[in-house]
Amino acid sequence: MGDALTALKSRLADVTSLSQINALLEWDLQTQMPPGGAEARARHMSVQSKLVHEMFTADETGRLIEAASAEVSGADYDSDDASLLRVARRDYERERKVPADLVAEVTRTTTLAHDIWAKARANNDFKSFMPSLQRIIELKIRVAECYGYTDHIYDALLDTYEPGLKTADVTAMFAGLRTELVPLVRAIGERVDAVDDSVLHQDFDPERQRQFAELVIRRFGYDFSRGRQDRAVHPFATNFSRNDVRITTRFDPRWLNPALFGTLHEAGHGMYEQGIGEELEGNILAGGTSLGVHESQSRLWENLIGRSRGFWTFFFPILQTYFPDQLGRVDLETFYRAINRVKPSFIRVEADEATYNLHIMMRFELEVDLLAGQLKVKDLPDAWNARSQTYLGIVPPTDTLGVLQDVHWSSGLIGYFPTYSIGNLLSAQLFEKAVEQNPTIPEEIRRGEFATLLHWLRENIHKHGRKYEPPELIRRATGEPLQSRSYMRYLKSKYGEIYGV
Ligand code: ZN
Repeated sequence: MGDALTALKSRLADVTSLSQINALLEWDLQTQMPPGGAEARARHMSVQSKLVHEMFTADETGRLIEAASAEVSGADYDSDDASLLRVARRDYERERKVPADLVAEVTRTTTLAHDIWAKARANNDFKSFMPSLQRIIELKIRVAECYGYTDHIYDALLDTYEPGLKTADVTAMFAGLRTELVPLVRAIGERVDAVDDSVLHQDFDPERQRQFAELVIRRFGYDFSRGRQDRAVHPFATNFSRNDVRITTRFDPRWLNPALFGTLHEAGHGMYEQGIGEELEGNILAGGTSLGVHESQSRLWENLIGRSRGFWTFFFPILQTYFPDQLGRVDLETFYRAINRVKPSFIRVEADEATYNLHIMMRFELEVDLLAGQLKVKDLPDAWNARSQTYLGIVPPTDTLGVLQDVHWSSGLIGYFPTYSIGNLLSAQLFEKAVEQNPTIPEEIRRGEFATLLHWLRENIHKHGRKYEPPELIRRATGEPLQSRSYMRYLKSKYGEIYGV
């Protein structure tokens, strides 16, 4: 290894370590820290972020990237060294484009906006949030201009969360989905009473809920010797190494779904991080390649597996032993239908698998129009309600249940929503390919065995870390670009059977 490459690796390893220390502070803040620690923690984390940014964007990093590139020129594209340089150069050039004072201004504005949004949401008062949102849109347009783009300004923001993805790709993806999904949801909507989910709303002791969900994710392959689970207000997954991956959950003592499906979801994120190639440990290639690919892993375990009949054929009798009074006399079919109930609703985070992407489409279209100057912030609530009518067939009675519901815009997270849909579509595309190459997987799931599936995901997705950008990774894993056919096939077959549509 050349001197420059050695020096670059050591520098990037330090940057990675500093970021991971910050993630540990964040995990502690959300799971352990007493409220009194907030002010000190904000100091710790901001100095920590500043160090990361300064060290990474320093001229010295750029000099080492250039010198190291000369040393490894001719190295195999797939090699760790060539991949490291590709990703380092991309991150470096991108981070350097935005001036530090603009970064600071975005942070300041969004930090202040959070409280304003939370109050506006509580009081159903969009007007009080309008000036903040206006300012955030203006700043994000400036950020996008710094990054630069060739086709659409929204591309620049999308790229932050989903490298390589273009607005045109998302538009095409949703166009295909929309024509099939809207009629499907309408048809189910007419038969909404065909499924009763009251069995899920009973008294379920949280400790027994925890024990059951842990049993499931152990069988999935979530490795507790390199991970743990804690409680948090908003569930998340984080990691400070492939050997220290943590997930969190929350419990509703009167509703089985949040902790159960939330745990399967976060374990999916966690297993991705635990499966990153050992040789990538500690450098910038360690970690998931994008939010969309990450979400494909969580959704696959939560929905494709966790809401399937095969899975519950094995696990429902076990669940009944945990809750004999509540579920002892419920049959598998009633339970299976209950966990797959579809009902158009106002709130995205409570949406079922069929309506979820319709919520995302609305947000995507509105964001694109806002950035392109085709929609004014003051007209946003009306535009929201009109789309809600078109896509979901319902209009929220208040802005609290409509345009004010999500935290994302107040945090400046514009360009983020499409990654949720990418995760949904990709989960079905990957699962279909895994089964095509390993036809025994469905039978194994009915026996509560997941090793073949996890191995396929490890080999095709997890172990590569950030080596490949999502479009390339998806093509390598499935032989084609991201598509919506697999997901629609999955939904139509599942709901066709449950609802007779
Ligand atoms: Zn997730």
